[in-house]
Amino acid sequence: MTRLERLQAALERPLLVTNEVNVRYLTDFRSSNAALLIESQRVRLCTDSRYTAAARQVPGVEVLDIGRDLFAGLSALLKGEVGFEAEDVTVAGFEKLRSGRASLVPASGLVEGLRAVKDSDELAAIRRAAEVTTEVFGRLASEPFRGRREIDLAWRMRELFHELGAEGEAFPTTVASGPNGAFPHAEASERFVQLGDLVVVDAGAVVGGYCADCTRTFVCGEPADELRRAYEVCLVAQRAGVAAVRAGALAREVDATARKLIEASEFAGRFGHGLGHGVGIEVHEAPSLRVEAGETRLEAGNVVTVEPGIYLEGLGGVRIEDLLVVTDDGAEVLTSSPKQLVSVG
Ligand code: ZN
Ligand code: ZN
Repeated sequence: MTRLERLQAALERPLLVTNEVNVRYLTDFRSSNAALLIESQRVRLCTDSRYTAAARQVPGVEVLDIGRDLFAGLSALLKGEVGFEAEDVTVAGFEKLRSGRASLVPASGLVEGLRAVKDSDELAAIRRAAEVTTEVFGRLASEPFRGRREIDLAWRMRELFHELGAEGEAFPTTVASGPNGAFPHAEASERFVQLGDLVVVDAGAVVGGYCADCTRTFVCGEPADELRRAYEVCLVAQRAGVAAVRAGALAREVDATARKLIEASEFAGRFGHGLGHGVGIEVHEAPSLRVEAGETRLEAGNVVTVEPGIYLEGLGGVRIEDLLVVTDDGAEVLTSSPKQLVSVG
């Protein structure tokens, strides 16, 4: 079955898919102005004249040119009960849709649920993205850090991704040195790396339209004792998290397995974010590994990160992140850079 057919089989009512990534996932068709109207026996791909020639290459769909104002065009087309992607449609888009004859029903996570379980083609692309990412981290670690600015190292990562065949970066590389490492979502700054800094590097390649995501924390020279202890605690938690991943495990339990090791240490309260997230066409997608994940269970074919961190304000931070494929009896770890604390020059 194609992805579209699997979605059709699962639908209770027609579904309007407006999320750009979801449209692409279902059809391999890329457009910034397109929607799919999916009914049990019929799929219409609605776009404007800039895209209709490309849209006609998509098998199994009828192509409609509904003009540049997509939601106005759709409102004229829809009738009866129709689900729409509540997370994607803006208030303005919704106002246009509901001016028509359709009875709109909010839907959530239908395509995202399919996307969470990767097929073999998707896994091949993600494996390749992870291999490139691992190679890039290895090359960076062989270069001196001291005296370079965070943005210089981030730029170097970008060059390396390009040299090694990535289409691009999954997100702008994070390089957070010294005290900047205490901010989980730090952007690379103009700070110069200094002796004694921990340097958090978070990056991922895109290959074949799929992302990888990996974090390693390096030390420039030798770390202070507290930072070394933080690293060791984070690593133990990370390994425990990886070991807890398998099909059938509750996502929140995997989070808890890693989290309780940090909470039981002198670094209690210093790990504020979720343990991990799904990765695919987007670098953050379903499923998420965190306390709020409810009854979500991991499934074979999910691709997730495990990335605990310890953030010490004014001092520095540690995060260690791997990318994994969930399997029936555990996980295949796709990122294979060393996890012992690596000292850089
Ligand atoms: Zn990351
Ligand atoms: Zn991540």
